[in-house]
Amino acid sequence: MQIQDYLNAGKIAAEVRENARKKYYVGLSLFEICESIEREIVQKGASCAFPVNTSLNEVAAHYTAEPNDKKIIQETDLLKIDLGVQINGYIADTAVTVCYDPNFDFLIQAAEAALSEAISIIRVGTKSSDVGKVIENTVKARGCIPISNLSGHSLEQYTIHAGKSIPNIWSIGSFTFLPTEAYACEPFVTTRDGLGFVREGNTRNIFSLATRKRTKDAEADRLLDHIWEKFNMLPFALRWLTLDWDEKTARNLLDKLLKKKAIRSYPVLVEANGQRVAQAEHTFIPKEDGITVTTL
Ligand code: MN
Ligand code: MN
Repeated sequence: MQIQDYLNAGKIAAEVRENARKKYYVGLSLFEICESIEREIVQKGASCAFPVNTSLNEVAAHYTAEPNDKKIIQETDLLKIDLGVQINGYIADTAVTVCYDPNFDFLIQAAEAALSEAISIIRVGTKSSDVGKVIENTVKARGCIPISNLSGHSLEQYTIHAGKSIPNIWSIGSFTFLPTEAYACEPFVTTRDGLGFVREGNTRNIFSLATRKRTKDAEADRLLDHIWEKFNMLPFALRWLTLDWDEKTARNLLDKLLKKKAIRSYPVLVEANGQRVAQAEHTFIPKEDGITVTTL
């Protein structure tokens, strides 16, 4: 584990997230928001670990802007900005929810409170089920509902979801936190009118490499090589390909690669009753006597 790369990535991610939290986005397009945040990550000397997610309202996760995405932020929108920074493949994964309608402050505060309560109990040897319990209790005490089928995760070099899940509710089956691993904790919360779980939506605009096996199509193979060289196994967006291919060609090649199962796509995840969802997220490394939050 490269501690220093994790710390450096975390510091940049935290700075970018705090700038994102302070910015007033009403009137800006999702395209402008994604591109400006990604530009900031690169300007600070790191790379994006995945396309910036800008999921609105009842969309909990996995929306990123399409090329020239025209969707404009309204005063009533609730926007989750989830960003990833990587240095040599070591990832900082962090998120903030912004909303300019004070009626939804409680939802954002519930997500933030659940994250800080979770962080306050984690050290080497803590059980993941206890973290889920703390998140669930904190969220419910504030009159909200945790999203039960979204969870935090262990991280590995060039791998965002490395196999272990940190639940957002009390649940059986558990692991204990190790000092040799980095993790992301990310409570998602919805209102009492929500069902407390997400369903897959129809939109898919985040992709990642599945296999480097040749496709027998020279241009598709060239894109496959490009994806491997630029993004390794990390997620990417169509927006990131349009420097080297025009949008239509890139879209066609992606469709080909999807059919051949050379790449996979990630559907947007939507609250099952269409209720708004807030999220907070930090990346951390457990210690014997506490925790190093890399994205603080
Ligand atoms: Mn994230
Ligand atoms: Mn995450």
